[in-house]
Amino acid sequence: MYDVAKNLHEVLRDLPDGVKLVAISKFHPNEYIEVAYNEGQRIFGESQEQELSRKVDTLPKDIEWHFIGHLQTNKVKYIAPYISMIEAVDSLKLLKEINKQAAKHNRVINVLLELHIAEEESKYGFSPDACRQLLEEGEWKNLRNVHIVGLMMMASNVDDQEQIRREMTIAADLFDELKAKYFADDADFKERSWGMSHDYKIAVECRSTMVRVGTTIFGPRIY
Ligand SMILES: *Cc1c(COP(=O)(O)O)cnc(C)c1O
Repeated sequence: MYDVAKNLHEVLRDLPDGVKLVAISKFHPNEYIEVAYNEGQRIFGESQEQELSRKVDTLPKDIEWHFIGHLQTNKVKYIAPYISMIEAVDSLKLLKEINKQAAKHNRVINVLLELHIAEEESKYGFSPDACRQLLEEGEWKNLRNVHIVGLMMMASNVDDQEQIRREMTIAADLFDELKAKYFADDADFKERSWGMSHDYKIAVECRSTMVRVGTTIFGPRIY
């Protein structure tokens, strides 16, 4: 088994105060999650509803689960009772569905808007302009059971550190712009979720508040 405890502490040592670690446990078994949990880790991220539901049933109840993958609207109802953050909201339709399902459980679900800044076509998310437009149109303000608490993005999967830095800086600058324009009075709008195994050190330099690290902690995923 990968030395999950050692890897976890090494990643935590790299994070400045105020930067949270989301341990990305997708495709890893409960035993791995339990090791990290026993070391004090409480925030875990998963990207598939069925896998998450299985784990939620069998793991400690004080884990804060973040949904980090592309979420289909028809799956929201399954995670709405317990999910603590949905990180990758990429459409108004999804935002409305989360609001509707959260209301059924008398919950307010925290979400991040996912930005698409990377060059890869395959990634989901709002372009900066689409994100501005969504907030400007204002329909989100009527959604009482969903709370937008920040932005999330994945940088391009490249070796070029300067490109990664450029993309994360675009996201950080957009965060400032949106904070000033729409969330100046909302102290909860404060999260900048970027940085994965290969780029979390760059991310903390680019003002990430939340890194999502899987492989460095748990080892390669077996699909
Ligand atoms: C899988 C995944 C991660 C973690 O990636 P690693 O390279 O294993 O650290 C982070 N964010 C998202 C959105 C993911 O899907």
